[in-house]
Amino acid sequence: MSVRRVSVFGATGSIGQNTVDLIARDPDSYNVVALTGASNIAQLAQDAQKLNADVAVTADESRLDDLRQLLKGTGVEAAAGPTALNEAAARPSDWVMSAIVGAAGLQPGLSALEQGATLALANKESLVCAGKLILKTAKDHSARILPVDSEHSAVFQALIGEDMAAVERVIITASGGAFRDWPLDQLEHATLAEASSHPNWDMGQRITIDSASMFNKAMELIETREYFGCTPEQIEVLVHPESMIHAMVGFNDGALMAHVGPPDMRHAIGFALHWPERKTLPVERLDLARIGALTFRAPDDVRWPALRLAREVMERGGMAGAVFNAAKETALDGFIAGQLKFTQMAGVVEDVLSAVDADQSHIDATMTLDNVMQVDHLARKAAWAQIRTKAG
Ligand code: NAD
Ligand code: MG
Repeated sequence: MSVRRVSVFGATGSIGQNTVDLIARDPDSYNVVALTGASNIAQLAQDAQKLNADVAVTADESRLDDLRQLLKGTGVEAAAGPTALNEAAARPSDWVMSAIVGAAGLQPGLSALEQGATLALANKESLVCAGKLILKTAKDHSARILPVDSEHSAVFQALIGEDMAAVERVIITASGGAFRDWPLDQLEHATLAEASSHPNWDMGQRITIDSASMFNKAMELIETREYFGCTPEQIEVLVHPESMIHAMVGFNDGALMAHVGPPDMRHAIGFALHWPERKTLPVERLDLARIGALTFRAPDDVRWPALRLAREVMERGGMAGAVFNAAKETALDGFIAGQLKFTQMAGVVEDVLSAVDADQSHIDATMTLDNVMQVDHLARKAAWAQIRTKAG
C-alpha cells in the first residue's frame, strides 16, 4: 500500500499516545504531517522527532519558544495556538486522529474534514455539541468519519454488511466506573483521586471521571444517535462490569451481534487506522474460558442522573447538545478544582440546561460553528454561576 499522510491531534494524551504507538510500529507506511499537544511539549517534541513529523503544534501559545528549542535542528517545524492548530488540520492529510479532549477538538476536526481527510473521531464532544454540523461538513467534502470510541467502533463493526432498516436496537455497555458499587450515601464524599481511577480502562483523567459519573455514557448515547442516526428509544445502556463486550446490535430477527474484545483502545484506533482492511494489532487475545463469566445489570438512574439528562438533550435536539457538553465540561472543571462535590455536577448541568435558554432561541439557532461556540460560551458562563452558587 502507498504511504499515507497522517496527523494526530491530541497526540500527547491517552488516545494520542496509543495512536503514536501504532504508527511507530510501522513507520514506513506513514508520512506524519502534524502532531499536536498542549502542556506536555517534551513528549510532543520527542514523538514529532521520532515520527519525523512535518510540524508539531502546542495549543499553549506561551510554550512556543520552548517547543522551538526542543525541536531545533530536527527539521520539525514548531507552531502554537488555536490558529496554528487549525492550520495544521488544514494541511493535506489522508487520515487525521481527532483526540483532543473537549469542545476544543471541534474546529480542527472540521478543518480536517474540509480538506477531505478521513477523520478518526475519538473526540466525542464534537458529535455531542455539533453532530449535524460535523456530519454535514463530512458529506459536503466527501470525507469520512470513523468512530474511535470502543462502543461506537463496536457498533460500526457489527453493522458491516447490514441494513440499518433491520436494526431494532443498539446496546452500548458501561463498566459503571469507579463508584459502581459504592453505597449511594458515600458518593457525595468521593474525592478527585477516587474518581480518577478506572477499574478497567487506562484513559485520560477527564473521561475517567466522566465514567464514574456516567457522563461519559450520557455523551455516548448522544454520540450513537448522531453518528448512526438511531432514535433515542433504540439506544440502550447496559452495565457490564468486565468491559469485554463493548456494544451489541439487535436486529429485527432477534439476533444480537456482540463485539467482544479486551479493554484496549488500540483495537478501535487500529481498526480506524487500517479500515477498510483488518490488520494484526498488538492487543491481548481473550481467553474466555479463563474469564469464565460476563455479567450485566440495568443502569441505576438514581446513581447516574447523567443518563436521564442525555435523554432530555436528545428530546430537545438542536443545540441542546452544545449546552449539555459545555455545562458538563465546566462542572467537571469545578469538581477538579475542588469547588463542587462529585454529586453536584449533574445538578449544575441540569440547571444550565433549563436556564440557558428557556425560550429555546439558542437551542433552535442554526448550527454553524459560530453559533455553537456562542452557545458553548453562554453555557460555560451559566455553569460557573451555578458552581459559585453551590460552592457559596
Ligand atoms: P487526554 O487528556 O489523555 O489527552 C487529551 C489531549 O488533548 C492531549 O494531547 C492534550 O494535550 C490535548 N488538549 C487538551 N486541551 C487542549 C486544548 N484546549 N486544545 C488543544 N489540545 C488540547 O484525553 P484522552 O483520554 O486521550 O481523550 C481524548 C478524547 O478521546 C476525548 O474526547 C475522550 O472523550 C475520547 N476518548 C478517549 C478514550 C480513552 O480511552 N482515553 C476512549 C474513548 C474516547
Ligand atoms: Mg467509550
